[in-house]
Amino acid sequence: MSTALAQVQASIAEAEIRAGRPAGSVTLVAVSKTQPWGNVAPVLEAGQQVFGENRVQEAMERWRDRREGLELRLIGPLQTNKAREAVGFFDVIETLDREKLARVLADEIQRAGKTLRLYVQVNIGEEAQKAGIAPAEADAFIAACHETYGLTIEGLMCIPPFDQDPAPHFAALRAIAARNGVEKLSMGMSDDFEIAIAEGATSVRVGSAIFGARDYQAT
Ligand SMILES: *Cc1c(COP(=O)(O)O)cnc(C)c1O
Repeated sequence: MSTALAQVQASIAEAEIRAGRPAGSVTLVAVSKTQPWGNVAPVLEAGQQVFGENRVQEAMERWRDRREGLELRLIGPLQTNKAREAVGFFDVIETLDREKLARVLADEIQRAGKTLRLYVQVNIGEEAQKAGIAPAEADAFIAACHETYGLTIEGLMCIPPFDQDPAPHFAALRAIAARNGVEKLSMGMSDDFEIAIAEGATSVRVGSAIFGARDYQAT
């Protein structure tokens, strides 16, 4: 059993109640990137079925032989030359953030004859170093995804600036989703997932609170 997983599940359940939201309305995405298999195995054995990964190659190596029954989400930046592999392997891509990628994904989805669930990443804090479409361009980009590329956008995803109160950023993402008729919100990580749930997150991406601190040196 993984006690850290159980604690995160309990915190999510409490946050749902506090927010007056139905039990089970928030999906926990366990972010297993860079974690050694010894940390991931107990969480898988405890019944967790939704995992987030940052890199296509790393995710494929880790999950290829135990893919059955899982939902895998790409939550890291996607280069167009990896789009074919990503479309073939993942159930959800959360980092669609530019027209060139929309075009390539549309082609690859058609070629693969597969349904893929897509989230548009919004650079909600307008940080120069961060991926994501600028908030001011989000409406036009979401419209182009539908109208130009025939893509259905399931949700929006954001990573607020780490040194600011995340609540207004989460609220801003929710507002963009609402005015564009987008249903789901991927927001909240280990340090702020309860705040994100209060602001309407439908999925939270939690890594270190479940698996322990990542050892970047090891990868
Ligand atoms: C690493 C990562 C997470 C998980 O971060 P923690 O703080 O360990 O919970 C969530 N989302 C994205 C996009 C990430 O890259």
